Amino acid sequence: MAYRSPVAEIRFILDKVVPFAPLAETERFAEATGETVEAVLTEAGRLCDEVMAPLSRAGDLHPARLENGVVRSSPGFKEAYAQIAEGHWVAVAATQEYGGMGLPQTLCVAINDMMSGANLALQLNPLLTQGQIEALEHHASEEIKALYIPKLIAGTWSGTMNLTEPQAGSDVGALRTKAEPQGDGTYAITGQKIFISWGDSDLTENICHLVLARLPDAAPGTKGISLFMVPKRLPDAAGNPGVANSLKVVSLEHKMGLHGSPTCVMSFEGATGWMVGEPNKGMAAMFTMMNNARLAVGVQGIGIAEGAYQKALDYARERVQFGPIIAHADVRRMLAEMRAEIFAARAIALACAVALDMGRATGKEGWHARAALLTPIAKAYGTDVGIHVADQGIQVHGGMGFIEETGAAQYLRDVRVTAIYEGTNGIQAMDLVGRKMMDEGRAAFRLLQEVEDAAKAAREALPDLAEAVWQAAETMREATEALIAQSTQDRFAGAVPYLRAFARVLGAHYHLQAALADGARAKLAAIYIRRILPQAEADLAAARAGAVDLFALSPEDLGA
Ligand SMILES: Cc1cc2nc3c(=O)[nH]c(=O)nc-3n(C[C@H](O)[C@H](O)[C@H](O)COP(=O)(O)OP(=O)(O)OC[C@H]3O[C@@H](n4cnc5c(N)ncnc54)[C@H](O)[C@@H]3O)c2cc1C
Repeated sequence: MAYRSPVAEIRFILDKVVPFAPLAETERFAEATGETVEAVLTEAGRLCDEVMAPLSRAGDLHPARLENGVVRSSPGFKEAYAQIAEGHWVAVAATQEYGGMGLPQTLCVAINDMMSGANLALQLNPLLTQGQIEALEHHASEEIKALYIPKLIAGTWSGTMNLTEPQAGSDVGALRTKAEPQGDGTYAITGQKIFISWGDSDLTENICHLVLARLPDAAPGTKGISLFMVPKRLPDAAGNPGVANSLKVVSLEHKMGLHGSPTCVMSFEGATGWMVGEPNKGMAAMFTMMNNARLAVGVQGIGIAEGAYQKALDYARERVQFGPIIAHADVRRMLAEMRAEIFAARAIALACAVALDMGRATGKEGWHARAALLTPIAKAYGTDVGIHVADQGIQVHGGMGFIEETGAAQYLRDVRVTAIYEGTNGIQAMDLVGRKMMDEGRAAFRLLQEVEDAAKAAREALPDLAEAVWQAAETMREATEALIAQSTQDRFAGAVPYLRAFARVLGAHYHLQAALADGARAKLAAIYIRRILPQAEADLAAARAGAVDLFALSPEDLGA
């Protein structure tokens, strides 16, 4: 069977698990009623199922090509993108001031989830535009906002982010691209960027590059980085795409997956750019785009997991080996765990999105801190679940999973990069145990307290499950207290298992809430709480181990 957008599942989570309704009670999001949510998700789901999903395989088999310096998209992508833009799906959360719908980010996240499951390579294009719009809304001059944002919202222009250079990956501060003032308010941008997603395409009439570069007298490291808008075509006096800017695509990367998304090596050769935000404060401005994209990339993992799960389930019902393979305990285990992990990751991502929106609507610091804490968890766990579920999807298919025709392998090849781009999952985990714990763990302890209180309240209805969740939250609290007392190096050494354990405690909490709201969901909650949650304890043991044993091994001990 073809991909089916999980509209009902997302509705359930927003109704019962991480309630969306309080958002509609705020002035800012008063229009986001239950009916709006239903209508938006249903309509977007139709686009995903009928237009985007049927093209995913074509994107894999016929990658974007570079022809005479211009990128030609995979078959059907241009027409499908036109429908995304015409349906106003590029940026549903963008401000109404410039023609956006002004809907909560949560709905955007839900749509991105469905679009990612349908066609990850194509979905990456609007994802980047969404982040760029947000960065411009917060940091650009009024002129830049008025010129660019309406076109980005309409989807006639698209946005990219240009951070990475050959010597500057995770260490963005090592970038060398130069920006020289031209004396007329513009800057000449010169340098090479690599791995730029959708750095060129034939989907839109202009492409807006947000580029990180250094002013001539800039300090070394991240303190000397500024941000620039560098369009592919310079807007003319009427705001239409005019003459070509001095930039080009040098080549496209050959990748293990995500073939429909052109990943470009870009050369900026004295290209005209306009500064966005303050001189030397480019990282702060780019962080707005990166934060948006971090949650969105987490959601890409969840979308792919959904697609891979659906395919595996369909196969398991049809394939007969000693009877239908879905009747075998090990296959049932794989499918149950896949579904349980998808629910957990999706609930965490939506909880993060609701916290973001509540922060925007109420201005309350508690919501901002909640969203900041959940962002690296949503990114890393969502993408880890995507990879794990796609891998299990292949296993359910047996040998046919390894054969490309079934499409099971494409999910794993496509999703693998999500744990790498937008900050590797290791960097996300370091953000969680470092920057996000600079409040001495206050936001984390507040969230864990809510988990414990909810588990206590569930003791009568679901005693076994509630007790396990309460105990896990308590262990997580103790581990967090221990983490706060650790040195930075020890924290970093345990960051990845710590993040995973935190995600699993939260996942168990949301499963418990789902089971309370709908008794039929207790069975899936039991799978997560009995089989997956216990792994949190093992992860926390590793997290507490610190760095000593790692550095006791010299590079020579590692075989270097
Ligand atoms: C398909 C694709 C699309 C991309 N799209 C874009 C894009 O549109 N725009 C853009 O600017 N970039 C893009 N990127 C680049 C991407 O963001 C980087 O690949 C990523 O940030 C990691 O950088 P790196 O590849 O240089 O790895 P490195 O930084 O070299 O990392 C290698 C390993 O070392 C670890 N590591 C590095 N530093 C530390 C540290 N301090 N502590 C602990 N561990 C560390 C990493 O976690 C990783 O495991 C894309 C990449 C790919 C593959």
